Amino acid sequence: MPERISSLRLRGDKVQVRYVHPDELGDESEHCDGLFTSHDGLIEVRHDALGAGGLRTLCHEITHYFLVWGALSDVFLSHDDTGKLEEGVCNAIGSMLYEVIRDNPDLVCEIIGVDSKQTGEQIREIVGRMGGVGE
Ligand SMILES: [Zn+2]
Repeated sequence: MPERISSLRLRGDKVQVRYVHPDELGDESEHCDGLFTSHDGLIEVRHDALGAGGLRTLCHEITHYFLVWGALSDVFLSHDDTGKLEEGVCNAIGSMLYEVIRDNPDLVCEIIGVDSKQTGEQIREIVGRMGGVGE
C-alpha cells in the first residue's frame, strides 16, 4: 500500500493532512470521519479510515475546502444552519471526485501532463517541478 498523503496542493495552498484518533475530530455526538479546518489549512482524517474509505473521506474534506474557498459554504449555511445541506453536497461531490480520479487514470495523467506509462516516482518528480507537492 502506498504511503498516506501528508499534504495537498489546493488552489496554490499547501494543506496539511493528519490522521487522528476519532476522539480528536470534535463533536462526539455525530459520526465524523474527517474534518477540514480552514483557518489552520488542515484536513484531519480518522487514522483507522483506510484504503478507499480514507480516500473518500479525503475527497469529502477537499470538497469542504472548495466550498469555503468559493464562499459557497456560507450560502449553504444560510439555507440550512444545521450544516446537513453542505454535508450532503460534500458526500455527493467528494464521492464523485474520488470515482472520477479512480476510474480515469489516463485523464489524470493528461491533466498533469505525464505519460501514463511513467512510474509513480517519475510522475511525483514532474508534479513537484510544476510546484505541486509530489515530492
Ligand atoms: Zn463533512
